[in-house]
Amino acid sequence: MSEKIERVKTLILGSGPAGYTAAIYAARADLKPLMYTGMEPGGQLTTTTEVDNFPGYPEGIDGPTMMVQLQQQAERFGTEVRIGMATAVDFSKEIGGIHKVTIDDSKVIEAETVIISTGATAKYLGIPSEQRLRGGGVSACAVCDGFFYKGQDVAIVGGGDTAAEEASYLANICNKVTMLVRKDFMRASKAMQHRVNSLPNIDLRYNSEVDEVLGDQVVEGLRIVNNKTGEKEEIPITGFFVAIGHKPNTEIFKDQLEMDETGYLLTQGKSTKTTKPGVFASGDVQDKEYRQAVTAAGTGCMAALDAERYLATVETPQEVS
Ligand code: NDP
Repeated sequence: MSEKIERVKTLILGSGPAGYTAAIYAARADLKPLMYTGMEPGGQLTTTTEVDNFPGYPEGIDGPTMMVQLQQQAERFGTEVRIGMATAVDFSKEIGGIHKVTIDDSKVIEAETVIISTGATAKYLGIPSEQRLRGGGVSACAVCDGFFYKGQDVAIVGGGDTAAEEASYLANICNKVTMLVRKDFMRASKAMQHRVNSLPNIDLRYNSEVDEVLGDQVVEGLRIVNNKTGEKEEIPITGFFVAIGHKPNTEIFKDQLEMDETGYLLTQGKSTKTTKPGVFASGDVQDKEYRQAVTAAGTGCMAALDAERYLATVETPQEVS
């Protein structure tokens, strides 16, 4: 830790749509933001192929290209983007206090405001065939990728609200949706279960697990195992959706910020304010319900505006050299 400690007005953690939108707004407000990208520069969208639901792209755009463009837009107004991972934080409890964020276990950044946009990571089953076919018909986002399977047969795994919601979404687009729930009941709300049961093209299978995703380059089928009888069955599908939950990337904020029981950061009212003054949260790290690029971008904008207003009302200590 021999390097000189840097002091910035606004430090942004994470480089998905929330982080870049926060950066665009913060830079234009002359907050001279510094962004650390995290482990996956560009965030979850870099693992998506076509993005067809972000307003302003009538022909659609592929995820990685969109994230490069967002970075260029943020840099155009003076955002400094660095590759690096926040590994520890020490947030001040005082209004106007200085927050300390350690990057890559080695460098400390002092920040007057911090915008957390570290996102969430979709959980996968972890079986090799599923991992191999990610991008080849295996997806963790029906709203993003369901359209590519219009009129086709698909399957979805999971029994929570996300799975139920996504199964209903897919049922409107696809020919048939096989829904696999590993227990003999669903965790989803009664209303969502009712919706699933009311759709004739959802084939709901309890006590069912995925044994293997079939296909060489692309998904061609699924081998299902009934965990009560041990019976196996192969079904032909072209798309396989995993909806078994997300994990917010909030490990380093434990003991520093309030979170819900599943680790999502709590924000105050309609703002992006966390429980520490000058620390704001935007995007999937604080949103387990909508989780769209455009909603993440919206809250990124809010976080920058909240940071700007916060800085306008506090007196910050002078830099110590
Ligand atoms: P949940 O954690 O609620 O549900 C995950 C589901 O996936 C469970 O059915 C679980 O099964 C199953 N699962 C987990 N691991 C595996 C595995 N390895 N193999 C097979 N199945 C597995 O996650 P959700 O994303 O559905 O929801 C997260 C939160 O967001 C919830 O609080 C939910 O209510 C909320 N939400 C609300 C919405 C709304 O109100 N419109 C929409 C979407 C989400 P098991 O039950 O056996 O553990």
